[in-house]
Amino acid sequence: MEFPFNDAPNTATITCFHVAEGHRPILYVSHDEEDGMWQFLCGKQHEESEARIVSLYSVFMLDHSIAKLAGMPYGYVAERESKETEWSIRKK
Ligand SMILES: [Zn+2]
Repeated sequence: MEFPFNDAPNTATITCFHVAEGHRPILYVSHDEEDGMWQFLCGKQHEESEARIVSLYSVFMLDHSIAKLAGMPYGYVAERESKETEWSIRKK
């Protein structure tokens, strides 16, 4: 599958250790208004110590379903109930 994002594959993104280590699926994605940073989180509340910096490519390899969010503009978030349900996108 072709890499779907305009950002370079080695772009730094924020995730949580739940997602990074495969404990939980990605259920919350933010494309930050201020700096265009992508965040791929499990949807739970987090301590700062639970954050991980990973490349956009490694998140994509973890879960190809984020390809559907590649065109999501700055200032938007996407959420879903589970890995099987569709993304719901809204302005933050
Ligand atoms: Zn998490």
